[in-house]
Amino acid sequence: MRFFNTYSRQIEEFEPRDPAERKIGIYTCGPTVYSRAHIGNFRAYIFEDLLQRHFELRGFKMHRVMNITDVDDKTIRGAREANIPLSEFTAPFKQAFFEDCETLRIKRADDFPAATDQRYIERMIEMIGTLISRDLAYQADDKSVYFRINKFPDYGKLAHFDLTQLQSTGRVKHDEYDKEHIGDFALWKAWDEEDGGVAWESPWGRGRPGWHIECSAMSTALLGDQIDIHCGGVDNIFPHHEAEIAQSEGVTGKKFVRYWLHCAHLLVDGQKMSKSLGNFYTLPNLLEKGYTGREIRYALMRVHYRAPLNFTWEGMEEARQALARVDEWLARLRETANGKIDKKNMKPGQQFEEALDDDLNISAALGFLFESIRETNRAIDQNEMDAATANAWLDWWKRVNSVLVVEEAPAELPAEITKLAEARLQARLAKDFQKSDELRNELGTRGWEVRDTKDGQKITRRAGG
Ligand code: AMP
Ligand code: ZN
Repeated sequence: MRFFNTYSRQIEEFEPRDPAERKIGIYTCGPTVYSRAHIGNFRAYIFEDLLQRHFELRGFKMHRVMNITDVDDKTIRGAREANIPLSEFTAPFKQAFFEDCETLRIKRADDFPAATDQRYIERMIEMIGTLISRDLAYQADDKSVYFRINKFPDYGKLAHFDLTQLQSTGRVKHDEYDKEHIGDFALWKAWDEEDGGVAWESPWGRGRPGWHIECSAMSTALLGDQIDIHCGGVDNIFPHHEAEIAQSEGVTGKKFVRYWLHCAHLLVDGQKMSKSLGNFYTLPNLLEKGYTGREIRYALMRVHYRAPLNFTWEGMEEARQALARVDEWLARLRETANGKIDKKNMKPGQQFEEALDDDLNISAALGFLFESIRETNRAIDQNEMDAATANAWLDWWKRVNSVLVVEEAPAELPAEITKLAEARLQARLAKDFQKSDELRNELGTRGWEVRDTKDGQKITRRAGG
């Protein structure tokens, strides 16, 4: 497998920290729970989900950590404006995040550490203490503690950033007069009135952690000094991930991350979908329009993670049609389980996985999927596929779907509806069409529609039913 490493700006062959164990530690920056995440955020999480699932398909064991940022300027402001404690303010957004992940079939991380957990606050304080003792951090006149970027020669290497440019912009904001260098970032923010009741004691006085140190503390606490893969959206590269490197390596003296993978943005009319621009949709916004979780998942996943993806309603329709084709194909393959002739010997190969091995090339992988659908459909049309081949494709689909996770979930029919449907089927088989029509009407009044298709009887919920 190979991936584009933001650090080197090159495609690199993937080698885990521990090749013998095939165990991979992966850290992904999670949501800041001050509002409901929008589907732009979910583009990043779905990319990470795809990455994890592909590694698992390839036989690796993943230890995935996703943090929850539940203390920062935005969460504090939200709690203050709502006039409730911070944890009460963030709780419903955490809940909504987990619900949305479930709808989008995103695998749960092994750990979801929260920044306000006392255990991690202690670790942050400990790390800051170490950085000060090594001269990599200092307490300024405003009582906050800052990282001294001039003492960390690698600072700027991830973002490929020239520090002299940072200097030339000069000091812009009043509160930055306390810092030695404009690029120095806060590790510990001294308490001020705006923080209200949000504060922890530390050797530098009451205050709260900076956002960057939260991720350094939680990632190294759970995954150790070195992480195989660290992900996020491209907006995380600078300053957030750059700062994570400086802090973590400043403390451990070891290379923090082996592979940095960043996904490009979800755009709306060429601009980043974001809270601040107000051009965003949440998952419930799309569900209200009738799109399902798997359709939204597919729409956000189908473009290579390093290419910007424009959100459009046509794109949503394309996703819907693509999945309808998959559904139809699976139904046909299942029917072909009694085919006898095999003229083509069309057995599935490795192209799908191999495309994903190549820097998670989902477009090529999906291209191969739909080409296979076209060819196998043609063979079925011409009666040239036998049961063994159909089953081989169905087995192949299981592998493919373990990564894509877009197969339609079997509809959950209420028990009494199943009973009525079964009775109708029996009536039809007995050619009692009067009874079968009565049962159809009965189902109809309960909001279910019956259709007789070549695959047999199909029951669907009536629109608006
Ligand atoms: P935030 O809650 O703002 O910290 O963002 C959470 C994650 O979503 C980060 O990995 C961001 O890089 C990512 N993200 C934010 N906006 C977008 C977008 N429009 N497209 C893709 N990823 C995004
Ligand atoms: Zn982070």
